Amino acid sequence: PAARRQRLAQTANLNQEQLDFLKRQASPMNNELVENYISDYRLPMGVVTDLLVNGRTYLVPMVTEEPSVIAAANNGAKRVRLSGGFTAPKQTHQVIGQVVLVDQPDHHERTKQWLLDHADQLLQVANAARPSMKARGGGARQVKVRELPGYLSVDVYVDVQEAMGANSVNTMAEAVGHFLSDQGFHVLTAILSNLFVGSLQTVTCHVTNEQLATKTMAGSQVAQRIAQLSELAQVDEFRAATHNKGIMNGIDAAVIASGNDWRSVEAGAHAYAADGHPYRGLATWQTDKQGLRGQLTIPLSLGIVGGSIKLSQQSKINYQLSQIHSSAELAAVVASIGLAQNLAALRALATTGIQAGHMQLQYRSLALSVGAKDDEVDAVVAALQKLDHVDRQTAKQALEKIRR
Ligand code: NDP
Repeated sequence: PAARRQRLAQTANLNQEQLDFLKRQASPMNNELVENYISDYRLPMGVVTDLLVNGRTYLVPMVTEEPSVIAAANNGAKRVRLSGGFTAPKQTHQVIGQVVLVDQPDHHERTKQWLLDHADQLLQVANAARPSMKARGGGARQVKVRELPGYLSVDVYVDVQEAMGANSVNTMAEAVGHFLSDQGFHVLTAILSNLFVGSLQTVTCHVTNEQLATKTMAGSQVAQRIAQLSELAQVDEFRAATHNKGIMNGIDAAVIASGNDWRSVEAGAHAYAADGHPYRGLATWQTDKQGLRGQLTIPLSLGIVGGSIKLSQQSKINYQLSQIHSSAELAAVVASIGLAQNLAALRALATTGIQAGHMQLQYRSLALSVGAKDDEVDAVVAALQKLDHVDRQTAKQALEKIRR
């Protein structure tokens, strides 16, 4: 890394101060993790406190650069806690290894029959490729065959236990692929699917009208509007994309802090949002006499072992903070964060609008971006709060005024 930094300093004209900064941020272990490593890139980490899931209260570390995310998650979590908490039944945790055969539609029936007749053998091949998974109670469980135009997908469902399972399942899928090639099939590819329908996590909650009310709006009115926003996300993909982005604000932040692969979770979530129907909102809300019932179902294959989880001191500390001890528990907590995040966003949209709360927090980033020092940020934010119109120019002026 030191040699790379030196070379980059020459090509990109980095000065000594910048070089020293990159060196200070670097950690020897991360040089083992990625190619061409030069330094670490830090993101802010905060916590959601008092997230009540299945009767247990969690402290959840969250990593994000977006100012409003942790504030909103805490807000949603508190309203649900005071209404009774989240219920998230234990998920099944299976990941699909997809072995795709090139096969003409008029052969499909015959090929499919052969595959299903040999399903036990395919499971044995998969398990022989990763015997440790079966030994600890998991492993390949089921084979399904899906017909596609010109292809057949042999989907091997693998119980991956406490890991996310990508590498384990890829190894198994490739073994099945080699076996099928040897049997004379034309294998196009063998890899896991990130559409984790074998690892769906559902979470529900009930929020009382009391917890939904604002100073100017009755709880039942807020509930009504949130239910309409939820309905809108079921019928309009433009709204659904933003609805789901809000959910993923919380989910990604918790997933990153847990050391898991958030790209995998993102891919799965959005694919599931359009699985067999037009793209739609992942979380839904319905009114009842006492308030709102919320539900989120999302595919989540998360690990508490494997990959780079618990390799760093930071990752170990995060698990000590959250006291999460299984992948199923992690999925339940992460899904609950997603629903809390969605509640906070919809409640803001249904009442004051999203910008009121957002901008208060954005002002801090804006102050920093125009050069305010730590001890100047509060004063700049206070000045901006008094203005009708805020942009970089007005932020600069506010800073200059403070410094005068
Ligand atoms: P690993 O490849 O690290 O495999 C899991 C490891 O955990 C194995 O070494 C396994 O041991 C060990 N382990 C210990 N205890 C348990 C337990 N109780 N249950 C399960 N495993 C246990 O990780 P994954 O297979 O989970 O793959 C995750 C990584 O794959 C992530 O880094 C991800 O970014 C990456 N990835 C993602 C892809 C995608 O999403 N499309 C594609 C490719 C990679 P043993 O060896 O004895 O089984």
